[in-house]
Amino acid sequence: MTISFKDKVAIVTGAGGGLGREYALELARRGAKVVVNDLGGARDGTGHSDAALKVVEEIEAAGGTAMSNGGSVTDYEQMEKMVADAKQKWGGVHVLINNAGVLRDKTFAKMSPEDFEFVLKVHLTGSAFVTKACWETMREQAYGRILMTASSTGLFGNFGQANYGAAKLGLAGLTKTLQLEGGKYNIKVNTLSPVAGTRMTEDLFPEQAFKLFAPENVVPAALYLVSEDAPTNAIVGAGGGGYHSAWVMMNDAVWLPEGERTVEGFAAHWAEISSQTNLVAPNSGAEQSGAILKAMQKVMGDA
Ligand code: NAD
Repeated sequence: MTISFKDKVAIVTGAGGGLGREYALELARRGAKVVVNDLGGARDGTGHSDAALKVVEEIEAAGGTAMSNGGSVTDYEQMEKMVADAKQKWGGVHVLINNAGVLRDKTFAKMSPEDFEFVLKVHLTGSAFVTKACWETMREQAYGRILMTASSTGLFGNFGQANYGAAKLGLAGLTKTLQLEGGKYNIKVNTLSPVAGTRMTEDLFPEQAFKLFAPENVVPAALYLVSEDAPTNAIVGAGGGGYHSAWVMMNDAVWLPEGERTVEGFAAHWAEISSQTNLVAPNSGAEQSGAILKAMQKVMGDA
């Protein structure tokens, strides 16, 4: 089975280098017309360059179709224009990979409010802006495949990356609501947590690990998650040659009798309340209230 992107128009943000460049090259090899977005800044988001243009040249030299966009994902008007340009030239937008990102690492004690806000703006607000700019088109087409780029820092935490982690878990949250709202329009939304040797990780990975985690190894997961038969609401980890899934899970609710609904009563039941048994991964927030009602019904049924 070959997974094709023929007749699909794809936008990849931050595709002037690293992972985004790999996604753009492979989407184009598989027949997509690709918008290569990148403002071409440094790792901390400062400056500009023609990084996107160079990737377009590479795609065209290999016989593919692409256009460059040097706009910033944080500028909604620029993103609306990017989508309008793609629609005008190619008739639609079917795939969006929100990949653009920056780093401004520091311990929370040393992090300035500006660096917290800036990192959230690029990753979280930027991904929401580009998605919003595509959303109506995808609804009208009754076709959309969107990938958010999270990270192990967002899902599980990492020292010195409070801004980045908050933004990245926010993206997993954005996925969860958008996949519900987009479901009936055949819009599927997933979250990817990559591990790759790029300029973002060059001073963090030892040399051997840098080579082992070549960004091409993330491409199979990313492209599957935006393909025709993609799942929705998945959180997938990918790096080196290893691929796995992650979930936001909950256990069964513990129903405390009225007299025990005190701080001390809660403390007395903490082991049960925090037990990692009978875990389930809800498909929507309503299932949390459902679990609480289930615990109540169980107690009433037993009474
Ligand atoms: P990278 O620095 O090579 O790529 C990020 C790209 O985003 C750069 O080309 C940059 O110019 C672009 N960019 C930054 N701000 C932008 C803006 N406002 N508008 C448009 N483009 C902008 O790093 P990468 O490792 O390829 O990272 C790609 C994505 O994967 C990022 O979201 C990153 O947080 C995420 N990620 C990477 C790793 C890893 O191990 N490399 C791990 C977890 C998550």
